[in-house]
Amino acid sequence: MIPIPTVTLNNGVEMPQLGFGVFQVPNDETTAAVTAALAAGYRSIDTAAIYGNEEGTGRALAESGIPRGELFVTSKLWIDDLGYESTLAAFEASVARLGLDYLDLYLIHWPAPETDKYADSWLALEKLLADGRVRAIGVSNFLPDHVQRLIDLGGTVPAVNQVELHPALQQRDAEAFNAAHGIITEAWSPLAQGAVLGDPAVAAIAVRHGRTPAQVVLRWHLQQGRIVIPKSVTPARIRENLDVFGFTLLDEELAALDSLEREGRTGPHPASFHG
Ligand code: NDP
Repeated sequence: MIPIPTVTLNNGVEMPQLGFGVFQVPNDETTAAVTAALAAGYRSIDTAAIYGNEEGTGRALAESGIPRGELFVTSKLWIDDLGYESTLAAFEASVARLGLDYLDLYLIHWPAPETDKYADSWLALEKLLADGRVRAIGVSNFLPDHVQRLIDLGGTVPAVNQVELHPALQQRDAEAFNAAHGIITEAWSPLAQGAVLGDPAVAAIAVRHGRTPAQVVLRWHLQQGRIVIPKSVTPARIRENLDVFGFTLLDEELAALDSLEREGRTGPHPASFHG
């Protein structure tokens, strides 16, 4: 089994640096995908209420027989449930679908700033944290001004900000802001959903190391201290994406990947996305 390094979150909780994402995996296919991931050695699983596959994820977790304390399960609050009471209810619905009694990490999925409700949801997440229903709380797709507003509430600083991040969209300013506040940046679509894997610069580095383009891109993330959650439903790729701890990219190789920045956002913009 490949040992996966952990990152220490701002409240001392240890989170695996590499996890498994299940976005766009139909519920009835999710059990098989998560089962393959757990068999390969992943222990951190990233789902969300909106993915519609918390049940399939939970079934795989239960059937695995892996002790709950060895798993790290993340889910996310959808935009429709922003607000204090609705957040508490949505959390209970998520853990029920997952068949769990607590989550390791609960994230506000998008700020949806025009609704002006994410601060109310944050207060609810703080209650869930205080009540021991979740071990760490964070946000996703929050721009620095959204995060600053939560910090200004004077309570808990988000442990994690999960944002779209890959060589074509590096979000350097947002990552620096997160780091300055002790917030770990977690990369969603770390492989740009495959869009950066055919790049000649990636391919050349992969050949040099006898690795695949996906492994090179994941190394680029990991060597910068980020958490990654690549998704695949293909068992060989699931294993390949975990086998990234036996080689190291050189500084000039990291720089070559840095030069692939092209504002290549694949998902919506957080300032304007309201679901
Ligand atoms: P990824 O960047 O992880 O790419 C997934 C795609 O790449 C799939 O098409 C997969 O194909 C393919 N792929 C995976 N591994 C390899 C490989 N080794 N070689 C070649 N192709 C490969 O994209 P996601 O958008 O899924 O992001 C990952 C996770 O991030 C999500 O599953 C979700 O958990 C999270 N996320 C969060 C969001 C948010 O708003 N917070 C938004 C989007 C994602 P196949 O499956 O066919 O093997």
